[in-house]
Amino acid sequence: MSIGKFVDNRKGIFVTKPSLPPFDEYVEYLREIWDRGILTNMGPLHEKFRENLSEFLGVDICLPSCNGHMGLELTIQAFELQGEIITTPYTFASTTHAIVRNRCTPVFCDVREEDCTIDTEKIEELISDKTVAIVPVHVYGLPCNVDEIERIATKHGLRVIYDAAHAFGVKIGERGIASYGDASMFSFHATKAFHTIEGGCVALRDVKKAMRLYQLENFGIMGEEQVSFTGANAKMNEFEAAMGLCNLLHFSENIEKRKRVYERYESRFADLDGVRMPSPYRDDITRNYSYLPIFIDKDVCGMSRDDVYAYLALNNIYSRKYFYPLTSQFDCYRDKGYRGDTPIAERLSEQVLTLPIYADLELEKVDHICDMIINFLK
Ligand SMILES: *Cc1c(COP(=O)(O)O)cnc(C)c1O
Repeated sequence: MSIGKFVDNRKGIFVTKPSLPPFDEYVEYLREIWDRGILTNMGPLHEKFRENLSEFLGVDICLPSCNGHMGLELTIQAFELQGEIITTPYTFASTTHAIVRNRCTPVFCDVREEDCTIDTEKIEELISDKTVAIVPVHVYGLPCNVDEIERIATKHGLRVIYDAAHAFGVKIGERGIASYGDASMFSFHATKAFHTIEGGCVALRDVKKAMRLYQLENFGIMGEEQVSFTGANAKMNEFEAAMGLCNLLHFSENIEKRKRVYERYESRFADLDGVRMPSPYRDDITRNYSYLPIFIDKDVCGMSRDDVYAYLALNNIYSRKYFYPLTSQFDCYRDKGYRGDTPIAERLSEQVLTLPIYADLELEKVDHICDMIINFLK
């Protein structure tokens, strides 16, 4: 095993490329940081970013964190959850890890074929007297059926904490996605549609829980001489907040560019048998086009997802099997005997391939990628 620099010298088209703001805009903030000498610990840029974020997300409270994962893990801790948590395995490692690292037990619910989010019709049969919460994922930024989830949670007295890592800027009707559930975690990792290099935030409703999360992100420190919780360190620093402030200004423009890329793929694949793209569960959704997943049905087109993946890689196009394997199939979880049967999630994870998408991806390159796939499947 090598633990070293993660440098990739391959030439080609990668699945993502971080959006960077104009250099001078970032340097302005660097100058401020240098003049002030405050680098971290909820400095003025952190506070300014927090305010701008809340406004952008349309929520009263949101707390930046060093990354999305710690935001989610500490939110589960802040709600003092102990027992079973219903979630889906068609997600990034973080979702399941955050549950297990809090010594809770994940119970895996299957997902909907159309959009890969939790199948709300299968939640109630998984509820037991140990169930304390639901942790659904807005996969690829496609919203879960939030109204149904709220109805079920209210009926059974469960907390709802969304893994909204992919869903920054997404709206249902006029309402921002961050305002649903008890809390929503967003990831601002460099690979996400909106980023702060590393970073994330949690939007919450309850002021007391928010205070606790704030303290958990800073070692559980209540005052200079008082430490009340077994906290961690999950603070966002000033350099990351500065990146967030810059990127927020360009977010809408970036999403417009992503949309052009997305729609080009969509029109090229429209008539391709055996290749499908997911669709949101209702019409009034403002999307962020954060990923470009396609599902390849081997029975229809004769080639498997793995065949297409390998063929593209040979031609210097680097797609990803996102999400494969399911988290429930990880070495650390496979033999734990966690409940939940998820045949649809399993099939999707065998069919999925996420293709390159980022704001500056030229449409000629999109056409090149589509030509490759279309010719290969013929
Ligand atoms: C990226 C991601 C996370 C974790 O976010 P980080 O900021 O990288 O810690 C959690 N859940 C999902 C679904 C993600 O894609």
